[in-house]
Amino acid sequence: MSWEENVRKVVPYTPGEQPKIKNIIKLNTNENPYPPAPAVEMRLKEMDVSDFRKYPDPTCSVLVDAIADYYNVDKKKVFVGVGSDDVLAMAFLTFFNSDKPILFPDITYSFYDVWAELFRIPYKQIPLKDDFSINVDEYCNLANTDAIDGLSVAEDSILKCGGIVIANPNAPTGLELGLNAIEKIIASNPDVVVIVDEAYIDFGGTSALPLIDKYDNLLVVQTFSKSRSMAGMRIGYAFGSEKLIKYLSDAKFSFNSYTMNMPTLELGALAVADKTYFDETRNKIIATRERTKASLKELGFEFADSKTNFIFAKHPGKSGKEIFDELRQRDIIVRRWDAERIKEYLRISIGTDYEMDKLIAALKNIIEK
Ligand SMILES: *Cc1c(COP(=O)(O)O)cnc(C)c1O
Repeated sequence: MSWEENVRKVVPYTPGEQPKIKNIIKLNTNENPYPPAPAVEMRLKEMDVSDFRKYPDPTCSVLVDAIADYYNVDKKKVFVGVGSDDVLAMAFLTFFNSDKPILFPDITYSFYDVWAELFRIPYKQIPLKDDFSINVDEYCNLANTDAIDGLSVAEDSILKCGGIVIANPNAPTGLELGLNAIEKIIASNPDVVVIVDEAYIDFGGTSALPLIDKYDNLLVVQTFSKSRSMAGMRIGYAFGSEKLIKYLSDAKFSFNSYTMNMPTLELGALAVADKTYFDETRNKIIATRERTKASLKELGFEFADSKTNFIFAKHPGKSGKEIFDELRQRDIIVRRWDAERIKEYLRISIGTDYEMDKLIAALKNIIEK
Protein backbone atom coordinates (compact mmCIF):
# COMPACT_ATOMS: atom_id res chain seq x y z
CA MET A 1 0.00 0.00 0.00
CA SER A 2 1.41 3.34 -1.01
CA TRP A 3 0.28 6.83 -0.03
CA GLU A 4 -0.31 7.33 -3.74
CA GLU A 5 -3.38 5.11 -3.59
CA ASN A 6 -5.12 7.76 -1.52
CA VAL A 7 -4.18 10.73 -3.65
CA ARG A 8 -7.05 12.62 -5.24
CA LYS A 9 -5.80 12.12 -8.77
CA VAL A 10 -7.08 14.19 -11.64
CA VAL A 11 -6.00 14.99 -15.19
CA PRO A 12 -5.80 18.79 -15.09
CA TYR A 13 -7.27 21.30 -17.51
CA THR A 14 -4.74 22.58 -20.05
CA PRO A 15 -4.91 26.35 -20.36
CA GLY A 16 -3.97 28.05 -23.64
CA GLU A 17 -0.32 28.88 -24.02
CA GLN A 18 1.01 32.19 -22.63
CA PRO A 19 4.20 32.64 -24.68
CA LYS A 20 7.06 34.66 -23.22
CA ILE A 21 8.24 36.00 -26.59
CA LYS A 22 7.09 39.48 -27.62
CA ASN A 23 5.80 40.57 -31.02
CA ILE A 24 3.70 37.52 -31.36
CA ILE A 25 0.08 37.85 -32.49
CA LYS A 26 -1.70 36.08 -29.69
CA LEU A 27 -5.18 34.92 -30.70
CA ASN A 28 -5.36 31.77 -28.57
CA THR A 29 -7.02 32.57 -25.23
CA ASN A 30 -9.81 35.03 -26.08
CA GLU A 31 -8.20 37.89 -24.23
CA ASN A 32 -9.35 41.42 -24.99
CA PRO A 33 -6.90 43.34 -27.22
CA TYR A 34 -7.76 46.65 -25.55
CA PRO A 35 -6.57 47.84 -22.11
CA PRO A 36 -8.91 47.99 -19.10
CA ALA A 37 -11.00 51.12 -18.41
CA PRO A 38 -8.79 54.23 -17.88
CA ALA A 39 -9.77 54.60 -14.20
CA VAL A 40 -8.05 51.28 -13.48
CA GLU A 41 -4.62 52.58 -14.43
CA MET A 42 -5.12 55.89 -12.62
CA ARG A 43 -6.13 54.23 -9.37
CA LEU A 44 -3.41 51.58 -9.58
CA LYS A 45 -0.72 54.28 -9.78
CA GLU A 46 -1.87 55.96 -6.58
CA MET A 47 -2.36 52.83 -4.47
CA ASP A 48 -0.72 52.87 -1.08
CA VAL A 49 1.21 49.63 -0.66
CA SER A 50 1.16 49.94 3.11
CA ASP A 51 -2.54 49.01 2.86
CA PHE A 52 -1.36 45.59 1.72
CA ARG A 53 -0.40 44.81 5.34
CA LYS A 54 -4.05 44.22 6.03
CA TYR A 55 -6.32 41.43 4.92
CA PRO A 56 -8.78 42.36 2.17
CA ASP A 57 -12.52 42.65 2.84
CA PRO A 58 -13.73 39.01 2.91
CA THR A 59 -17.21 40.07 1.77
CA CYS A 60 -15.72 41.85 -1.28
CA SER A 61 -18.31 44.58 -0.79
CA VAL A 62 -16.87 47.34 -3.05
CA LEU A 63 -16.86 44.97 -5.97
CA VAL A 64 -20.17 43.30 -5.14
CA ASP A 65 -21.81 46.72 -4.76
CA ALA A 66 -20.38 47.97 -8.06
CA ILE A 67 -21.62 44.88 -9.92
CA ALA A 68 -25.03 45.05 -8.19
CA ASP A 69 -25.31 48.74 -9.18
CA TYR A 70 -24.30 48.20 -12.77
CA TYR A 71 -26.69 45.32 -13.34
CA ASN A 72 -29.40 46.73 -11.09
CA VAL A 73 -29.53 43.56 -8.99
CA ASP A 74 -29.84 43.20 -5.22
CA LYS A 75 -26.34 42.69 -3.81
CA LYS A 76 -27.55 39.62 -1.95
CA LYS A 77 -27.90 38.03 -5.38
CA VAL A 78 -24.27 38.63 -6.37
CA PHE A 79 -21.22 36.42 -5.72
CA VAL A 80 -17.63 37.19 -6.76
CA GLY A 81 -14.55 35.04 -7.15
CA VAL A 82 -11.05 34.72 -8.57
CA GLY A 83 -12.09 34.58 -12.20
CA SER A 84 -15.19 32.74 -13.28
CA ASP A 85 -13.13 29.54 -13.05
CA ASP A 86 -13.13 29.99 -9.27
CA VAL A 87 -16.83 30.85 -9.23
CA LEU A 88 -17.69 27.84 -11.39
CA ALA A 89 -15.50 25.46 -9.36
CA MET A 90 -17.15 26.68 -6.15
CA ALA A 91 -20.58 26.26 -7.75
CA PHE A 92 -19.79 22.67 -8.83
CA LEU A 93 -18.62 21.90 -5.29
CA THR A 94 -21.67 23.51 -3.70
CA PHE A 95 -24.55 22.49 -5.94
CA PHE A 96 -23.58 19.20 -7.52
CA ASN A 97 -23.72 16.85 -4.58
CA SER A 98 -26.00 14.07 -5.78
CA ASP A 99 -25.30 10.64 -7.24
CA LYS A 100 -27.16 11.55 -10.42
CA PRO A 101 -25.05 12.77 -13.32
CA ILE A 102 -24.74 16.43 -14.16
CA LEU A 103 -25.25 17.16 -17.84
CA PHE A 104 -23.29 19.34 -20.22
CA PRO A 105 -22.47 19.18 -23.95
CA ASP A 106 -19.70 16.94 -25.34
CA ILE A 107 -18.13 19.97 -26.92
CA THR A 108 -17.95 22.83 -24.47
CA TYR A 109 -15.59 24.52 -22.02
CA SER A 110 -13.16 21.73 -21.21
CA PHE A 111 -12.90 22.64 -17.54
CA TYR A 112 -16.39 21.23 -16.72
CA ASP A 113 -15.37 17.57 -16.90
CA VAL A 114 -12.16 18.36 -14.99
CA TRP A 115 -14.11 19.84 -12.04
CA ALA A 116 -16.54 16.93 -12.18
CA GLU A 117 -13.58 14.53 -11.99
CA LEU A 118 -11.89 16.54 -9.22
CA PHE A 119 -15.01 16.64 -7.05
CA ARG A 120 -16.10 13.10 -7.98
CA ILE A 121 -19.36 14.33 -9.48
CA PRO A 122 -20.90 11.86 -11.96
CA TYR A 123 -21.46 13.51 -15.35
CA LYS A 124 -22.88 12.81 -18.76
CA GLN A 125 -21.84 14.65 -21.90
CA ILE A 126 -24.68 15.23 -24.32
CA PRO A 127 -23.52 15.39 -27.96
CA LEU A 128 -24.08 18.66 -29.76
CA LYS A 129 -26.07 18.27 -32.97
CA ASP A 130 -24.12 18.08 -36.24
CA ASP A 131 -24.43 21.84 -36.69
CA PHE A 132 -22.93 22.28 -33.19
CA SER A 133 -26.20 23.51 -31.71
CA ILE A 134 -27.24 22.30 -28.26
CA ASN A 135 -29.80 19.50 -28.21
CA VAL A 136 -32.26 21.19 -25.86
CA ASP A 137 -34.70 18.29 -25.53
CA GLU A 138 -31.97 16.08 -24.10
CA TYR A 139 -31.78 18.39 -21.08
CA CYS A 140 -35.48 18.61 -20.40
CA ASN A 141 -37.79 16.64 -18.14
CA LEU A 142 -35.06 14.33 -16.90
CA ALA A 143 -34.94 15.20 -13.21
CA ASN A 144 -38.65 14.56 -12.95
CA THR A 145 -38.83 11.16 -14.60
CA ASP A 146 -40.15 8.65 -12.12
CA ALA A 147 -38.49 5.26 -11.97
CA ILE A 148 -39.18 3.54 -15.25
CA ASP A 149 -40.36 -0.09 -15.00
CA GLY A 150 -37.77 -2.69 -15.82
CA LEU A 151 -34.75 -0.47 -15.34
CA SER A 152 -32.15 -1.14 -12.69
CA VAL A 153 -31.44 1.61 -10.17
CA ALA A 154 -28.20 2.37 -12.03
CA GLU A 155 -29.92 2.58 -15.40
CA ASP A 156 -32.68 4.66 -13.93
CA SER A 157 -30.32 7.15 -12.39
CA ILE A 158 -28.59 7.60 -15.74
CA LEU A 159 -31.86 8.92 -17.09
CA LYS A 160 -31.96 11.46 -14.33
CA CYS A 161 -30.01 14.56 -13.79
CA GLY A 162 -28.08 16.04 -10.89
CA GLY A 163 -27.54 19.44 -12.45
CA ILE A 164 -26.89 21.18 -15.76
CA VAL A 165 -24.10 23.40 -17.07
CA ILE A 166 -24.50 25.31 -20.31
CA ALA A 167 -21.93 27.76 -21.65
CA ASN A 168 -23.93 30.38 -23.54
CA PRO A 169 -22.68 31.36 -26.04
CA ASN A 170 -20.93 28.01 -26.11
CA ALA A 171 -17.16 27.66 -26.31
CA PRO A 172 -15.32 26.83 -28.47
CA THR A 173 -18.15 26.84 -31.03
CA GLY A 174 -19.22 30.46 -30.47
CA LEU A 175 -22.88 29.58 -31.02
CA GLU A 176 -25.58 31.18 -28.88
CA LEU A 177 -28.61 29.28 -27.59
CA GLY A 178 -31.69 31.52 -27.56
CA LEU A 179 -33.11 32.68 -24.25
CA ASN A 180 -36.34 30.73 -24.77
CA ALA A 181 -34.41 27.49 -25.04
CA ILE A 182 -32.33 28.37 -21.97
CA GLU A 183 -35.54 29.08 -20.05
CA LYS A 184 -37.04 25.78 -21.20
CA ILE A 185 -34.03 23.92 -19.75
CA ILE A 186 -34.25 25.79 -16.44
CA ALA A 187 -38.02 25.42 -16.14
CA SER A 188 -37.81 21.69 -16.91
CA ASN A 189 -35.29 21.10 -14.13
CA PRO A 190 -36.64 22.76 -10.97
CA ASP A 191 -35.09 20.03 -8.77
CA VAL A 192 -31.51 20.78 -9.72
CA VAL A 193 -29.26 23.80 -10.15
CA VAL A 194 -28.73 25.02 -13.70
CA ILE A 195 -25.52 26.97 -14.31
CA VAL A 196 -25.36 29.23 -17.36
CA ASP A 197 -21.75 30.23 -18.03
CA GLU A 198 -21.93 33.57 -19.84
CA ALA A 199 -18.20 34.27 -20.28
CA TYR A 200 -18.91 35.68 -23.77
CA ILE A 201 -22.36 37.18 -23.33
CA ASP A 202 -21.24 40.81 -23.83
CA PHE A 203 -20.34 40.26 -27.49
CA GLY A 204 -23.90 40.17 -28.76
CA GLY A 205 -25.73 37.50 -26.78
CA THR A 206 -28.81 37.81 -24.56
CA SER A 207 -28.18 37.18 -20.87
CA ALA A 208 -30.33 34.91 -18.72
CA LEU A 209 -29.84 37.35 -15.83
CA PRO A 210 -33.50 38.53 -15.76
CA LEU A 211 -34.55 34.91 -15.13
CA ILE A 212 -32.92 34.73 -11.68
CA ASP A 213 -36.01 36.32 -10.14
CA LYS A 214 -38.26 33.73 -11.73
CA TYR A 215 -36.16 30.59 -11.09
CA ASP A 216 -34.37 30.12 -7.79
CA ASN A 217 -32.32 27.24 -9.23
CA LEU A 218 -30.53 29.39 -11.85
CA LEU A 219 -26.93 30.58 -11.47
CA VAL A 220 -25.66 32.97 -14.16
CA VAL A 221 -21.86 33.25 -14.25
CA GLN A 222 -19.88 36.03 -15.97
CA THR A 223 -16.29 37.27 -16.03
CA PHE A 224 -14.07 40.36 -16.33
CA SER A 225 -11.56 38.34 -18.37
CA LYS A 226 -13.00 38.82 -21.83
CA SER A 227 -15.28 41.82 -22.31
CA ARG A 228 -13.68 43.86 -19.50
CA SER A 229 -10.04 43.31 -20.45
CA MET A 230 -8.95 42.07 -17.02
CA ALA A 231 -8.03 38.39 -17.43
CA GLY A 232 -4.83 39.03 -15.50
CA MET A 233 -6.67 40.42 -12.46
CA ARG A 234 -8.87 37.31 -12.10
CA ILE A 235 -12.44 38.50 -11.48
CA GLY A 236 -15.53 36.42 -12.03
CA TYR A 237 -19.04 36.86 -10.66
CA ALA A 238 -22.37 35.13 -10.49
CA PHE A 239 -26.02 36.08 -10.11
CA GLY A 240 -28.64 33.90 -8.51
CA SER A 241 -31.48 33.84 -6.02
CA GLU A 242 -30.58 35.00 -2.52
CA LYS A 243 -30.81 31.40 -1.32
CA LEU A 244 -28.48 30.11 -4.02
CA ILE A 245 -25.90 32.83 -3.38
CA LYS A 246 -26.04 32.18 0.37
CA TYR A 247 -25.16 28.50 -0.18
CA LEU A 248 -22.34 29.47 -2.53
CA SER A 249 -21.02 31.98 -0.05
CA ASP A 250 -21.16 29.44 2.82
CA ALA A 251 -19.03 27.05 0.75
CA LYS A 252 -16.59 29.84 -0.11
CA PHE A 253 -16.18 30.85 3.55
CA SER A 254 -15.57 27.20 4.39
CA PHE A 255 -12.75 27.03 1.87
CA ASN A 256 -10.94 30.38 1.73
CA SER A 257 -12.29 33.61 3.27
CA TYR A 258 -9.96 35.90 1.35
CA THR A 259 -10.34 34.85 -2.25
CA MET A 260 -10.11 38.32 -3.79
CA ASN A 261 -7.12 40.58 -3.15
CA MET A 262 -7.37 44.24 -2.20
CA PRO A 263 -6.25 45.89 -5.49
CA THR A 264 -8.45 43.57 -7.52
CA LEU A 265 -11.55 44.48 -5.52
CA GLU A 266 -10.99 48.22 -6.02
CA LEU A 267 -9.86 48.09 -9.62
CA GLY A 268 -12.67 45.74 -10.57
CA ALA A 269 -15.22 48.11 -9.04
CA LEU A 270 -13.82 50.99 -11.12
CA ALA A 271 -13.79 48.92 -14.30
CA VAL A 272 -17.40 47.86 -14.03
CA ALA A 273 -18.55 51.44 -13.42
CA ASP A 274 -17.28 52.71 -16.80
CA LYS A 275 -20.11 51.78 -19.13
CA THR A 276 -19.02 54.13 -21.92
CA TYR A 277 -15.60 52.54 -22.25
CA PHE A 278 -17.08 49.04 -21.96
CA ASP A 279 -19.55 49.68 -24.78
CA GLU A 280 -16.90 51.32 -26.94
CA THR A 281 -14.44 48.43 -26.71
CA ARG A 282 -16.91 45.59 -27.02
CA ASN A 283 -18.52 47.26 -30.03
CA LYS A 284 -15.10 47.59 -31.63
CA ILE A 285 -14.51 43.86 -31.07
CA ILE A 286 -17.92 42.98 -32.53
CA ALA A 287 -17.19 45.12 -35.62
CA THR A 288 -13.76 43.49 -36.05
CA ARG A 289 -15.35 40.06 -35.67
CA GLU A 290 -17.86 40.75 -38.44
CA ARG A 291 -15.11 42.05 -40.75
CA THR A 292 -13.02 38.97 -39.98
CA LYS A 293 -15.96 36.67 -40.73
CA ALA A 294 -16.29 38.25 -44.17
CA SER A 295 -12.58 37.84 -44.91
CA LEU A 296 -12.53 34.23 -43.69
CA LYS A 297 -15.53 33.45 -45.85
CA GLU A 298 -13.73 34.86 -48.88
CA LEU A 299 -10.82 32.53 -48.16
CA GLY A 300 -13.21 29.56 -48.11
CA PHE A 301 -13.33 29.00 -44.35
CA GLU A 302 -16.44 27.46 -42.82
CA PHE A 303 -17.69 28.48 -39.38
CA ALA A 304 -20.76 28.71 -37.21
CA ASP A 305 -22.14 32.18 -36.55
CA SER A 306 -20.14 33.41 -33.57
CA LYS A 307 -21.66 35.67 -30.90
CA THR A 308 -18.35 35.79 -29.02
CA ASN A 309 -14.89 37.33 -29.30
CA PHE A 310 -13.61 34.35 -31.27
CA ILE A 311 -14.42 32.46 -34.47
CA PHE A 312 -14.35 28.66 -34.66
CA ALA A 313 -13.43 27.87 -38.26
CA LYS A 314 -12.15 25.14 -40.54
CA HIS A 315 -10.98 25.06 -44.13
CA PRO A 316 -12.08 22.31 -46.53
CA GLY A 317 -8.74 22.39 -48.34
CA LYS A 318 -6.28 22.15 -45.49
CA SER A 319 -6.16 20.35 -42.15
CA GLY A 320 -6.57 22.22 -38.89
CA LYS A 321 -3.21 21.00 -37.66
CA GLU A 322 -1.44 22.18 -40.82
CA ILE A 323 -2.93 25.67 -40.70
CA PHE A 324 -2.21 25.88 -36.97
CA ASP A 325 1.44 24.95 -37.47
CA GLU A 326 1.90 27.29 -40.39
CA LEU A 327 0.39 30.20 -38.47
CA ARG A 328 2.69 29.38 -35.57
CA GLN A 329 5.71 29.62 -37.88
CA ARG A 330 4.50 33.09 -38.77
CA ASP A 331 4.30 34.04 -35.08
CA ILE A 332 0.50 33.88 -34.92
CA ILE A 333 -0.96 31.66 -32.21
CA VAL A 334 -4.52 30.36 -32.32
CA ARG A 335 -6.07 27.45 -30.41
CA ARG A 336 -6.93 23.95 -31.55
CA TRP A 337 -7.86 20.60 -29.98
CA ASP A 338 -7.24 17.00 -31.00
CA ALA A 339 -10.76 15.82 -30.04
CA GLU A 340 -12.26 13.91 -32.98
CA ARG A 341 -15.28 16.12 -33.70
CA ILE A 342 -13.36 19.37 -33.70
CA LYS A 343 -9.83 18.50 -34.77
CA GLU A 344 -10.09 20.34 -38.10
CA TYR A 345 -11.15 23.56 -36.42
CA LEU A 346 -9.17 26.54 -35.23
CA ARG A 347 -10.46 28.85 -32.55
CA ILE A 348 -9.33 32.31 -33.46
CA SER A 349 -9.69 35.09 -30.87
CA ILE A 350 -10.65 38.53 -32.13
CA GLY A 351 -7.74 40.94 -31.73
CA THR A 352 -7.32 44.48 -33.05
CA ASP A 353 -8.07 45.27 -36.70
CA TYR A 354 -4.32 45.35 -37.31
CA GLU A 355 -3.84 41.88 -35.83
CA MET A 356 -6.73 40.44 -37.80
CA ASP A 357 -5.36 41.94 -41.03
CA LYS A 358 -2.06 40.19 -40.31
CA LEU A 359 -3.93 36.95 -39.63
CA ILE A 360 -5.95 37.14 -42.82
CA ALA A 361 -2.84 37.91 -44.90
CA ALA A 362 -1.07 34.90 -43.35
CA LEU A 363 -4.07 32.62 -43.93
CA LYS A 364 -4.34 33.74 -47.54
CA ASN A 365 -0.69 32.89 -47.99
CA ILE A 366 -1.12 29.48 -46.33
CA ILE A 367 -4.28 28.52 -48.18
CA GLU A 368 -3.15 29.63 -51.62
CA LYS A 369 0.29 28.12 -51.60
C1 LIG B 1 -12.68 32.10 -20.36
C2 LIG B 1 -13.79 31.25 -19.87
C3 LIG B 1 -14.04 31.08 -18.51
C4 LIG B 1 -13.08 31.48 -17.43
O1 LIG B 1 -12.74 32.73 -17.37
P1 LIG B 1 -12.04 33.37 -16.11
O2 LIG B 1 -10.83 34.00 -16.69
O3 LIG B 1 -11.69 32.30 -15.11
O4 LIG B 1 -13.03 34.32 -15.61
C5 LIG B 1 -15.17 30.38 -18.12
N1 LIG B 1 -15.99 29.83 -19.02
C6 LIG B 1 -15.75 29.93 -20.33
C7 LIG B 1 -16.70 29.30 -21.27
C8 LIG B 1 -14.63 30.63 -20.80
O5 LIG B 1 -14.38 30.68 -22.09
